[in-house]
Amino acid sequence: MASTNARSAAIAALTSFKSMAPRIHFAETPIKDIFASNVFNEEVQRERLPKPVFEKLHETIRNGAQIDPAIADAVAVAMKDWAIEKGATHYAHIFYPMTGVTAEKHDSFIQPTGDGKAILDFSGKELSQGESDASSFPSGGLRATFEARGYTAWDPTSPAYILENPNGTVLVIPTAFVSWTGEALDQKTPLLRSMEAVSKSAIRLLNVFGKNSQKVFSTVGPEQEYFLIDKNFYYARPDLLNAGRTLFGARPPKGQEMEDHYFGSIPERVLACMLEVEHELYKLGVPVKTRHNEVAPAQYEMAPVFETSNLAHDHQMLTMETLRRIADKYGLACLMHEKPFAGVNGSGKHNNWSLATVEGENLLNPGSTPHENAQFLTFVCAVLRAVDKFAGVLRMSVASAGNDHRLGSHEAPPAIISVYLGDQLNDIIEQLENGKPKSTKRGEDVWLGTRVLPKLRDAGDRNRTSPFAFTGNKFEFRAVSAGQSIAGPNTALNTIVAESLDYIAGKLEAELVGGKEFNKALHGVLSEIVKQHKRVIFNGDNYSDAWHAEAAKRGLPNFKTTVDAAPAILTKEVVELFGKYKVLNEREVHSRYEIHLENYKKRINIEAQLMVSMARTQILPAAIRYQGEVAESIVAAKTAGVNIGNLGEQEQSLSDLSKTIGELQRKVTALVQATEHAAASDEADEDVLAQATYSKETIIPAMKAVRELGDKLETIVADDLWPLPTYREMLFIK
Ligand code: ADP
Ligand code: MG
Repeated sequence: MASTNARSAAIAALTSFKSMAPRIHFAETPIKDIFASNVFNEEVQRERLPKPVFEKLHETIRNGAQIDPAIADAVAVAMKDWAIEKGATHYAHIFYPMTGVTAEKHDSFIQPTGDGKAILDFSGKELSQGESDASSFPSGGLRATFEARGYTAWDPTSPAYILENPNGTVLVIPTAFVSWTGEALDQKTPLLRSMEAVSKSAIRLLNVFGKNSQKVFSTVGPEQEYFLIDKNFYYARPDLLNAGRTLFGARPPKGQEMEDHYFGSIPERVLACMLEVEHELYKLGVPVKTRHNEVAPAQYEMAPVFETSNLAHDHQMLTMETLRRIADKYGLACLMHEKPFAGVNGSGKHNNWSLATVEGENLLNPGSTPHENAQFLTFVCAVLRAVDKFAGVLRMSVASAGNDHRLGSHEAPPAIISVYLGDQLNDIIEQLENGKPKSTKRGEDVWLGTRVLPKLRDAGDRNRTSPFAFTGNKFEFRAVSAGQSIAGPNTALNTIVAESLDYIAGKLEAELVGGKEFNKALHGVLSEIVKQHKRVIFNGDNYSDAWHAEAAKRGLPNFKTTVDAAPAILTKEVVELFGKYKVLNEREVHSRYEIHLENYKKRINIEAQLMVSMARTQILPAAIRYQGEVAESIVAAKTAGVNIGNLGEQEQSLSDLSKTIGELQRKVTALVQATEHAAASDEADEDVLAQATYSKETIIPAMKAVRELGDKLETIVADDLWPLPTYREMLFIK
């Protein structure tokens, strides 16, 4: 009996796929012409704004001066004219609520004139401030519905841009989103505040070194990992569609063990898609730089050149949007879930982070002799201290139901936060602990065995297993997940480092006032920090069990799940930290804690319900049909006089099959009961930590049990009856 189901229809559809996307010719539209062509950037501003307005605006962008409301009208007019020339009919304040995705509300420039006509208008007030109903966005208790107003406030440090659509364009203005009492309801506001905090502390410390800097920026280069699979498969999988990850799926005979995908040649359809993504991003001024295949089949990565954190954040959100949007044109679905396929590598977002002065100095650049570069070592020590002291804050900044599947599962760093320094820097830090550093270990020249290749030189090998690694002139925070906004992790990093820089500056200032010689004072402070915080340094294999044991011995926290990590941001120390640096007040910290756990619980609930429905309406029906076929065939064979002795194995498999079906039905019932219990406790408004704990301790294990049996059936039931696209198909048909 030939059957058509969603899966076979998907395979049929994808083999006849023809892309409708227009071809892109970089020769006709060279990058230098299109780059930032849709951005109201410095060049356009200089050209179109009255000089005093331009200068005031730039005081804010470059040096963080308070924006002068008087210039808003002039900027609005220039922006509107520019946008209309580019075909815009509407403007939109884009904001970054705690949902983790962007939100935008479009308004047209139209202003009726009373005589039946209309003009196009855009005022400074409309540019600067928008009103948006905040009640439908997560606020973690920050605003009750009776005070549901939320405001979007223009962020002049992130330039407005034009978003194209085949039927028109929109002027998009990046904004912060706050409650009417000024509390942050979004990701951008705390990020901007943390950038100010770290700038202030860094300037203070640089002053101690006799340097004057106007402003210090945190810089970020996020590497985005993602999967691209055929869209037909995506639509045939309710779990991918609604949860972003597969809730069922037996391991394919070939996974990633052949290691033939990493850096392999990029499939043509995928490359075409990447080229268009890049084309779009170039127009928006996103400096996309690298692309390659990642480790898992159907997994890829792209990375831009680093920018200041705020811009990097806005561009990163645009990158995710653009990937999703363009993939669709190529018949692909872009998956940015942390772990879309069990047993296959998940996706992260390596967050490369550093500090740079507005004058252009990278404060984490060791120079050629790091042991002499006292200032560099001071900044490194500040980071070490921050990461050790506030490991829980960093851990929580990457915590989610999805990332829980990825962290620590032998492909991504464990939940234990530690720092990798590499041979060279580690050696210097050890010298620092015991006395003044005297030498720098040199990388050996690497001879490639033939004269035609250049000699390579590297200061140290890479460690890919560390959650937080020094990589030459920046730190790379690798526990960040593919699907999340980078705002949270960077807010955390900036804030904890601000505190450490401040601490060191304070100590040094006091010692210098006391008359101590600078180098002596500095050495004393740094060696003390190394002594106290060296437990956070680990240069070995973070995936190994030995490290888990060692970390426990060192007393490093190991928050395995979101639920374990959450309370870490409510400690007195952490609340004081965020308060002191004016990044989040106590209410804001609490709201974020609530939102995190709420989100965790909701995601797991959705997954559980999806699982029940897939098991009941797809997997069990397929298995029961197959059971019928086998039973019928045995009866028919007997009727036809087949020797009963020959049918023993078939009867046995039939019996195994029925047994598995029965077990699955029982496990599904148990999962239903667990979700009902969760719904009741939600109804009763129980404490969110208790609810999340229930999800972790009861619902997740119940889901595991269902999955095991579902996956077992996938390996038994006749292939033509199986309704769900398999891992083999999704990952290997490109
Ligand atoms: P890899 O990790 O493979 O060595 P790269 O050296 O290409 O990668 O850098 C990865 C990312 O780090 C890129 O986005 C790059 O722009 C970014 N990066 C480089 N220097 C800095 C810096 N000073 N601050 C923040 N990000 C940086
Ligand atoms: Mg990297």
